[in-house]
Amino acid sequence: MNYLIVFIMNLAIILIPCIYLFVIYIFKKKKKRKLKIGHFLIAIIMATLIILIKDKVSDIILKDNKSGDSVIKEVENGSGNEVEDNPNYVETTSKGYILEKIDGAYYIDGYIIVNKSYPFSDSWIPSNTEEEINNDICKNCLDKEVYNMWSQMKNDATSIGLNIYISSGYRSFSYQKGLYEHYINKGGKDYADITSARAGHSEHQSGLAFDLNSVDDSFSATDEGKWVNNNAHLYGFIIRYPKDKTNETGYKYESWHLRYVGTYLADKLYNNGNWITMEDYFGLDSQY
Ligand SMILES: [Zn+2]
Repeated sequence: MNYLIVFIMNLAIILIPCIYLFVIYIFKKKKKRKLKIGHFLIAIIMATLIILIKDKVSDIILKDNKSGDSVIKEVENGSGNEVEDNPNYVETTSKGYILEKIDGAYYIDGYIIVNKSYPFSDSWIPSNTEEEINNDICKNCLDKEVYNMWSQMKNDATSIGLNIYISSGYRSFSYQKGLYEHYINKGGKDYADITSARAGHSEHQSGLAFDLNSVDDSFSATDEGKWVNNNAHLYGFIIRYPKDKTNETGYKYESWHLRYVGTYLADKLYNNGNWITMEDYFGLDSQY
């Protein structure tokens, strides 16, 4: 329905000025049937105005779609001063966004924020998951909307002969704790910090993120890895730790780690293939 409105407005850009010129022409006396430059100027102004209105309407429609994404928490700030009256207020970021903490998780504009600076509480678990959480690890214990979008993405990949699958989905606070300690034993603290997240700091606790296929650097060069990089945003997923953005995210490039943010933000972060990080977009740090 929303896209129908945009389509009609696209048509109107051409049609309305044409109708205007046609009417002017028809209503002139037969002998004087001649369009002046002024008439064409008015038609151009009309088209420009419709384009401007269309852009505003598209923006509103896209924002509406964003709030339709159920994983994006509707945060009620109430009226009045957003900062002083908001009991959840934590800070205003360098890009002017309001960071809030609600029930053990950080949010900006309803998007869960979890990185090296902003952890979940140890007891935080996702609700409304596709499969009920009974274990420390669970591939399908993802938010229902995330799981639905993932299924669509997987089906579309399968239909063109690609094989993508989840290797790691939900991980509990305590599982992440063990995993991080495993990496410390393997390569020391610095190695562990760039490879894995400390307990509470992993997106895998959110039920909004998962790892694909081989979960290693070889994935990006595969047909699957390339397709995921170029198409994941169409399903609302982002490459959460893009290439050459370690100084922003705090993690090395992970072509296999997807995070769901809904199509509105995913499209902005995809940025025509030149990925923007959540840290850069919202103006956040990510450091212990
Ligand atoms: Zn991951």
